[in-house]
Amino acid sequence: MLATILAFFSFIYRGKMSKNERSFIMVKPDGVRRGLIADIIKRFEQKGFTMVAGKITQPSTELVQQHYIDLKDKKFYKGLCEFITKGPVFPMVWEGLGIVKTGRQILGETDPAKSLPGSIRGDYCIHIGRNICHGSDSVESAEKEIKLWFKDEELVDWKPAGYDYIYE
Ligand code: ADP
Repeated sequence: MLATILAFFSFIYRGKMSKNERSFIMVKPDGVRRGLIADIIKRFEQKGFTMVAGKITQPSTELVQQHYIDLKDKKFYKGLCEFITKGPVFPMVWEGLGIVKTGRQILGETDPAKSLPGSIRGDYCIHIGRNICHGSDSVESAEKEIKLWFKDEELVDWKPAGYDYIYE
């Protein structure tokens, strides 16, 4: 009985997942200055996700403070905002089934020391305040972050040639 109920909810949940789900992924200044943009793009691309926007940019203090507004009461907020504002950063929008959750797995844990080898943070960094990349933690925050960093016309609607070999 329990198995049937779980299967039912799993079916409903999967039904809600969309191949058009989007996440906001950003290479932070440490990742940019260490020459890791290409490797980070490669990991998402090889997994089968599609980049629909990306740019190198020098973010304003206001933009960065707004991006991390939920952390405004944390003691590291000021230092974090100052570091990200140094730039440049490489914000991106990636698309695909389960991109928000899988994107976080590709990045690894917030603390590199807890990140497994094979994840970006597991492979490339040591300190929590220099953890290379950002990824949205929910579909709702992805929508907010994408609106904050990109204009609608910067998002490109396209499908890679291998699309039918990524999804059945
Ligand atoms: P994530 O980036 O994994 O979603 P959070 O939203 O909790 O993690 O934190 C945002 C960023 O703030 C982290 O990626 C990290 O760079 C920085 N940060 C988090 N916790 C600390 C900490 N204890 N000390 C310094 N920086 C931190």
